[in-house]
Amino acid sequence: MKKLEEVLEDWEAVIGLEIHAELTTLETKMFCGCKLEFGAPPNTHTCPVCLGLPGALPVPNKAAIESIVLAGLATNCDIEKHSMFYRKNYMYPDMAKNFQTTQGPIAFCMRGHLDLDVDGAAAKERYRLDDLAVGETEDNITRTEDGYVAHVGITRIHMEEDAGKMVHVGGGEGRIAGATHSMVDYNRAGTPLIELVTEPDLRTPEEARLFMQKLRQIYLAIGISDCSMEEGSLRCDGNVSLRKRGAKGLGTKTELKNMNSFKNLHDGLTYEICRQAEVLEEGGIIYQETRHWDPSVKRTIVMRVKETADDYRLFPEPDLAPYDLSDAFIEGVRAKLPELPDQKAKRFAADFGLSAYDARHLVENLDVAAFFEEAMAAAGADALTLAKPIANLMINDVSAYLNAHVDESLGNLALTPARAVELTKLTAADAISSKQAKEVFAAVLEEDKDPGVIVDERGMKQVSDTGAIEAVVDQVIAANPDEVARYKEGNEKLIGFFVGQCMKQMRGQGNPKVINQLLAEKLSQA
Ligand code: ADP
Ligand code: ZN
Ligand code: MG
Repeated sequence: MKKLEEVLEDWEAVIGLEIHAELTTLETKMFCGCKLEFGAPPNTHTCPVCLGLPGALPVPNKAAIESIVLAGLATNCDIEKHSMFYRKNYMYPDMAKNFQTTQGPIAFCMRGHLDLDVDGAAAKERYRLDDLAVGETEDNITRTEDGYVAHVGITRIHMEEDAGKMVHVGGGEGRIAGATHSMVDYNRAGTPLIELVTEPDLRTPEEARLFMQKLRQIYLAIGISDCSMEEGSLRCDGNVSLRKRGAKGLGTKTELKNMNSFKNLHDGLTYEICRQAEVLEEGGIIYQETRHWDPSVKRTIVMRVKETADDYRLFPEPDLAPYDLSDAFIEGVRAKLPELPDQKAKRFAADFGLSAYDARHLVENLDVAAFFEEAMAAAGADALTLAKPIANLMINDVSAYLNAHVDESLGNLALTPARAVELTKLTAADAISSKQAKEVFAAVLEEDKDPGVIVDERGMKQVSDTGAIEAVVDQVIAANPDEVARYKEGNEKLIGFFVGQCMKQMRGQGNPKVINQLLAEKLSQA
């Protein structure tokens, strides 16, 4: 198979996502009063409504409607005041009533959009980005200094309910193939679920990944879901088709299921784009089908040929009245909208002089953003000077540490905002070198002590005193006449050798800036 880069020379990939989020922060299910609880003993949270017993009548959960309106407002959707619930009929034991309650052509939220910042390595997947000048717009992207902004349309966000969970016994790894029997747990049946559908506006697997990440950040910020991809409270299906470069119509798409991590979403789409290109280039055709991405063998396999809407016999739910949202309700929800990640990033950039890139990475995680704000408050008059070093500490060192120690969280670390300020102050004042700062950072986490205490205990103070450094520089120059001669003949790389010698004498505690400066001066006079 060809590589993605090669395929995208001839073909344009068209991607649309369908993203389901369980409203895990609610107390109760969508149409009954059963408690929402992940991991409870099987079938302990059920009632006649979510078991689909005859005659049981559903009552919509108002808090769930608030959540979906919040999601719509946060993603620039129009909120539809009049919408209805529908029955999507199907027969499978995971839904005892044999239909899923969902919405029809008009959902609570319609016609939204999100802008994605794509830069660095992620921007490389976009075909011929360099043909665009900075500020220029083509298709749905606008070129920026280090990448581009992609404008992604959101078709709708509708309200529905989750199904129960099937457990297959006796087959390999819980699969249905080879199973002797299956069990079903209805605790999840009726869990409020919102499904967001994007326009087919995405063009690369990276854009799909970034969209998913951005949406997750927004949902976490507005607090409607815990968005756990491992536990399945955030799930994504990727729809993808190809068309020849320059073509306008849409090709036949396939739909990828099981995209339960950002990496799977990216890699599954990448594989599928390359597979479709191979089929098409060999003169074959793409069938509209649902495929399963198997990350262990790195390929997609057919699950089923796509059902059409007709197969589901979608019809208005007779047990639920059409829904009317009042202006007062919508405005009440709007008033609850917190600061969104994009707004927070703009504020960080404006208030603390951070680059858009740093600000964007700081707000990716609510805890990190809160930590940063606390540190800025603790820094007081030094906030402006320390903002960049603290941002670097968070984005690089802290996140690397947390990635390597998955059991730990920012809140449990011995590094507090006050300690982050103290550490970056020490470096900014040249009291320790940036290399020493790494050692102090690790020691703070390990020993739970203030940075200043660690510096004192280890005698780490960086020597910036010019007199002391000058003496060492003189000594090193006197002791290495051959190197001095070669340096003077134009071998300027030898400066590194001299710096190294000085550092060695000073046991790593000399201020490299001062050493470099003095060496350059003295060598030119030697
Ligand atoms: P379906 O009826 O198969 O569910 P929809 O029209 O509801 O299809 O679209 C589902 C998702 O697939 C949306 O995100 C949409 O943007 C995307 N999509 C639709 N057609 C295509 C296509 N030809 N190629 C890629 N994505 C597509
Ligand atoms: Zn119930
Ligand atoms: Mg659809």
